[in-house]
Amino acid sequence: MLELKNISKTYVNSKRKVEAIKNVNLTFEEKGFILISGESGSGKSTLLGLIAGIIDPSVGEIKYKSKVLQTKKDILDYRVHNIGFIFQEYNLIEDLSIKDNFLLVKSIKNLDKDESDVTSILNKVNLQDVENSLPSELSGGQRQRVAIARALFSDSNIILADEPTGALDEKNAKEILNILKDISKNKLVIVVSHNLSLAEPYADRVIKLSHGEVVKDDTCTQSTYVNNDIEVAESKLRGLDLKYALKIGLKYFRFKTFKLYLSICILIISFVLLFIVTGVMFFNENEAYSAGIKNENIGYLVIDKYEYQNNTYTKEFFTSAEVSIIESGFNHIQPILFGDYLNTSIENSLNDKTFIAEGIAEISEEKAKAYGFNLIGEFPKENEVVITSEVANLLSISVDNFESTSIIIDYDYFKVSGIIEIQTSKDIKASSSDLLDMIIFTNEEYYKACEEESVVTEILVESSNFANINEISDALIKNDSNYVYKFDNIVFNSVLRMRIFVDSIIKIGTCICVIFIVFSLLLLMNFVYSSVLENKRDIKVIKMIGGKNMDIFKIFIIQPLFITLFSLIFAIAGYYIVNSLLNDFIKSEFSLFIPILSLTAPKIIIIIFTILLIVSMTTLIPIMRIRKSK
Ligand code: ADP
Ligand code: MG
Repeated sequence: MLELKNISKTYVNSKRKVEAIKNVNLTFEEKGFILISGESGSGKSTLLGLIAGIIDPSVGEIKYKSKVLQTKKDILDYRVHNIGFIFQEYNLIEDLSIKDNFLLVKSIKNLDKDESDVTSILNKVNLQDVENSLPSELSGGQRQRVAIARALFSDSNIILADEPTGALDEKNAKEILNILKDISKNKLVIVVSHNLSLAEPYADRVIKLSHGEVVKDDTCTQSTYVNNDIEVAESKLRGLDLKYALKIGLKYFRFKTFKLYLSICILIISFVLLFIVTGVMFFNENEAYSAGIKNENIGYLVIDKYEYQNNTYTKEFFTSAEVSIIESGFNHIQPILFGDYLNTSIENSLNDKTFIAEGIAEISEEKAKAYGFNLIGEFPKENEVVITSEVANLLSISVDNFESTSIIIDYDYFKVSGIIEIQTSKDIKASSSDLLDMIIFTNEEYYKACEEESVVTEILVESSNFANINEISDALIKNDSNYVYKFDNIVFNSVLRMRIFVDSIIKIGTCICVIFIVFSLLLLMNFVYSSVLENKRDIKVIKMIGGKNMDIFKIFIIQPLFITLFSLIFAIAGYYIVNSLLNDFIKSEFSLFIPILSLTAPKIIIIIFTILLIVSMTTLIPIMRIRKSK
């Protein structure tokens, strides 16, 4: 059934070459107790490893059921489906109960067995009530019996045991050999032992090795071999259940407190930085502007036109073509007029207070509403004006008692019918002055009459149309590329200043963030690396019971994933704290409330998934490195 043909194995070290197995030819039938003996160093373990498919032969081939095992996959399939390996030690995953050690095999091999099978198989090797014990609670002999039971549980056709009795006293050793002998009535059992006198009475065949060669191959008792190749139903490997990956992976958290805390701290800082940097990267002027005008209730926007030459901006007048372009994109457009009639200062008829007006604008109920102006008094009728609270202040006109006041514009008397409060936010008022403060508002007729002898210096529009700014700006520049158009109101200017602030956060933040992230990933890699090194035995056990690289990856990714998720929770909380501190800072620095960090839940989720993906890939690196170095 199993054939080794001209097998040699040479270990090549940097210093020397060891010919551990030299040209060995052996044939095994499908049942029987085979004993491999020989001095220490004679090549017994190597031979067993070759049979198990865990050591690649340097020369020669292995045939199983008339099929030559050629590719890596052939060998893996052969090993996983047929071989049950029992070592002298390191058989069991220490962190799992005996029952779970069995169910782990069931999970990996997708065996059709349940917990009652575990109990009955344990009973077969004379073990009772150990299902819930940990391996460390069992004696050496008991553990060895568990290992044998597990090989039986996994339906292996070939049971290989390397010095299974090496660590046991004679009584226990004999019991193990007895069990193996029983099994050998149905399966091929190959046992390596240097203790010939102890094991020989059980053997059907004894193969003696010396310096890597078979020096003796005796059949002891006449065994009756039945030579019919039974096709073994191949179990389909399913891969490790998440439950076991979690159970094992989480246990690896022991004894790592300092490193663990350090990693978590660094990760939290990195993720908070990452959230902040990505948050400000999503800072969008239009959105900020929208938030600003909404929060501050400012309904208007002023458009200015400049000529830009030799690094200086010179204010220019709007043409009627430009006015109509702007009209196409904004609601409630209101050109502000300037003419000779404003060249003299405006004075209060009751005292000698004067001020210089910057323009006149028409005001109606509809427009005042659109711009968010707050009017005290009446809208202007013929020979009436409305002034801003700023102008009222300059002219010593009281807001409570302005009805009897007139002002003189270009020798004409105008009754003050109302006073406008332009901004709703006192914070903004304190922080800056606004153009519109120096405007006189008139009724439609007066405004129309002025139009002919005026130029348009500024244009007032409703701010809710700010989304059209880029479009209108393009249209204006297309119309005449010699000019620059600036859109401003207080919020707009603050947003521009904020942009500069945001850009510096992005620049500095990205650098620090990259450093922290790289450092975090290195820490995580180191964490996994040392975890893999510390738990090499488990890797060996899992591989021996048919585990694939993916199963090992699943186990070792648990720790970094937990650390990452844990840190992420704190980082999200940290992000919200930083966000509110930053908002407070912005309120005091820019006198308006515009959120600078704009991470929405979907964006946070995308970032988290990206982080988890990167962490998974980072975990792969140390696992791959260890596999290569082995
Ligand atoms: P045994 O199990 O009979 O004691 P082994 O098969 O373990 O013998 O070893 C046979 C020879 O091969 C010994 O000389 C040993 O030093 C050498 N050897 C075993 N494993 C390796 C290895 N991984 N690398 C290099 N030499 C090895
Ligand atoms: Mg050995």
